[in-house]
Amino acid sequence: MTIDTHAHITDIKFDNDRKDVIEKAFNSGLSKLIEVSCQMCYWDKSLELIKQNDIFASFGIHPADVLKYVKSDYEKLEILIQNEKCVAVGETGLDYHYDNSKKNIDAQKESLEVQLDLAKKYGKPVIIHCRDAYDGIIEFIKKQSFIPKGVIHCFSGTLEQAKIFVDLGFYIGIDGPVTYKKSDILKKVVKNIEIGKLLLETDCPYLAPQKYRGTRNEPSYIIEIVKEIASIKNMDVDKVEKITTQNALSLFKGIK
Ligand SMILES: [Zn+2]
Repeated sequence: MTIDTHAHITDIKFDNDRKDVIEKAFNSGLSKLIEVSCQMCYWDKSLELIKQNDIFASFGIHPADVLKYVKSDYEKLEILIQNEKCVAVGETGLDYHYDNSKKNIDAQKESLEVQLDLAKKYGKPVIIHCRDAYDGIIEFIKKQSFIPKGVIHCFSGTLEQAKIFVDLGFYIGIDGPVTYKKSDILKKVVKNIEIGKLLLETDCPYLAPQKYRGTRNEPSYIIEIVKEIASIKNMDVDKVEKITTQNALSLFKGIK
């Protein structure tokens, strides 16, 4: 049994067969799923989705488009976070990948601060998105008086950076790229970070594992990530599933 702690099932790419995709995932050994709803246009759709058993949500505002949001959107977000099936806040974080994102670094930091405060206020963990900004986010987090528990989503930094996040109390999110042949640095991270600190995420419809690379990713493909971690760490697949599931349940306490 596994938990996909990071999916975007409300994405339009699932509009034609969402029900089948979810059914297939649960029939293939997935026990729970967290829908990460970090764009306002998907919030209502996500609220509808989490009415289903074993599907939970994280609500947040993605760093890449913080400039589109106004104060009343954050008020709406605060209401969503109080939903009993909302088990986390995010994705929030820093994204320095796009040229235009460099222009809104201050806005990204401000949004991150607001969302960290909401996580603190409602006692929920954070899902941190970080792209080309690992040192920036480490510096930012260290300056906070309170650091909520959370996960560094789809980790793609170095082993040294991963160790710093673990020391700060974060879990490391492992996604499809760990199965790619050229992901030497990520494989090194998985080998050297204890299994008790790793979380499974598909980030579907993005980042399909090697076997399905170039196609739409789905929650049922999570087994490919499990197999890769098991192979890197020389562990049984069952053990990887069991421990990462425990990790997910201890971080996302709202999962019942
Ligand atoms: Zn995502």
